[in-house]
Amino acid sequence: MRQTTRTETSDDSILVVGGGVAGISAALDLARAGRNVHLVERDGELGGRTARLDKLYPTDHCGFCPVWTEVRLCRNHSCITVHTWTTVQSIEPDDGFWTVVLQHAPNAIDPAGCICCGRCAPACSEDAVAMTAPHVYPPAFRIDATRCTGCGDCIKACPTGAIDLKRQPEDRRIRVQGVIWATGFEVADLSAASAAAPELGAGSHADIMDAMAFETWIAEAGPNRGQVRCHDGRPAGQVAFIQCAGARDRRSQPQCSMVCCMHALKQARWVRRRNPDVRCVIFYTDLRTEGRGYETYYRDEALAEGIELVRGRPGLVHPLPGGDGIAVKYENTLTRTPAMERFDLVVLNGGLRPGSTCNGSAPGDMTIDFVADDKARNARSCGFCKAPADVETAAVQGSAAAMETLTEVLR
Ligand SMILES: Cc1cc2nc3c(=O)[nH]c(=O)nc-3n(C[C@H](O)[C@H](O)[C@H](O)COP(=O)(O)OP(=O)(O)OC[C@H]3O[C@@H](n4cnc5c(N)ncnc54)[C@H](O)[C@@H]3O)c2cc1C
Repeated sequence: MRQTTRTETSDDSILVVGGGVAGISAALDLARAGRNVHLVERDGELGGRTARLDKLYPTDHCGFCPVWTEVRLCRNHSCITVHTWTTVQSIEPDDGFWTVVLQHAPNAIDPAGCICCGRCAPACSEDAVAMTAPHVYPPAFRIDATRCTGCGDCIKACPTGAIDLKRQPEDRRIRVQGVIWATGFEVADLSAASAAAPELGAGSHADIMDAMAFETWIAEAGPNRGQVRCHDGRPAGQVAFIQCAGARDRRSQPQCSMVCCMHALKQARWVRRRNPDVRCVIFYTDLRTEGRGYETYYRDEALAEGIELVRGRPGLVHPLPGGDGIAVKYENTLTRTPAMERFDLVVLNGGLRPGSTCNGSAPGDMTIDFVADDKARNARSCGFCKAPADVETAAVQGSAAAMETLTEVLR
């Protein structure tokens, strides 16, 4: 049974939950105004999803580099206390303040001792050891405490003695004047078990993947070093991008995820830049390219570079027998032509839902609640957990939330 150490502290700082671009932006603006900030991130490093992106539309620059500069500023700012591997256990209004219990669940693998040799992962019979996406810096192995049985096989496999399964989660109570939620988004589960969109074949074949997984799969620093390959190592010749997979669909979530049309165009462009012989087809409901320069990105650049667009939602995605690719059955609703085509890789795009705020409140059902402001109690949301947002919008919202919070505190 786990032991919990409870340390009581009290102060009048601001809590920012989520260390993606929105949370970083909020934390830095508050700190620059002289406020103390607790920046809480459930992963081992700040940067959120943006740090995991290979490229960023609309500039097509690297995703990691600009975020890393901001991460360093956060880490080095004397007013910001960064809590990684930490989540909010509970939060209560408390006489004009908020009393918050943070739970720090340390990684059983000490990053200082880990040489990332990977011997611990196959040693685990419960699949509890995994590496963060291969192109994410700093690389880290993580033991999922909910799966770990404590058998110690990973300890035996580790050549540097970096694993200590006795590390216990620790709770810490703080009192803050304001809260900013910046918990970003989760990718909806579209596997057959979820019944959200069983016809799309999620989980039935490794070459049918969601867009976050595809971003890693084709990343320059990813497992294929920028090459576009199937999971059996064959070069991919045809890639299908299926838009609104698990979005704008009452079986999963009715909202548009807003960023997916643009990142499908971005991914297809990068596939063809690296290998112009690869055919890329985007199956769309209607293309949504809101944002400065986005329409140019779509019409003058992506279309001009030979990316194909088909209006229609495929009705069936199915692995072909003998590992001979993936069949996609669809109707082109502009020409009213039904068709079935074979692809090597299928990317399911959509179904981005708001990240959960506290432990145990994950939105696992059909109800998607974006995190609302509670201005009367000085709690605000920003970034993707407030409403679907691209990187620029998320960062701007983070700053806006910081400014509103400050105004309230100084009133
Ligand atoms: C495949 C894909 C490609 C994309 N490409 C682009 C692009 O090229 N250009 C662009 O502008 N946008 C792109 N986007 C959108 C972009 O990822 C988002 O705009 C951006 O990540 C939003 O930032 P955020 O800080 O709101 O959320 P996130 O990046 O999701 O960050 C949220 C952070 O909060 C942490 N967190 C979550 N819950 C908790 C909790 N309970 N406690 C503590 N921490 C928590 C998470 O670990 C994460 O670090 C893309 C999205 C996808 C899916």
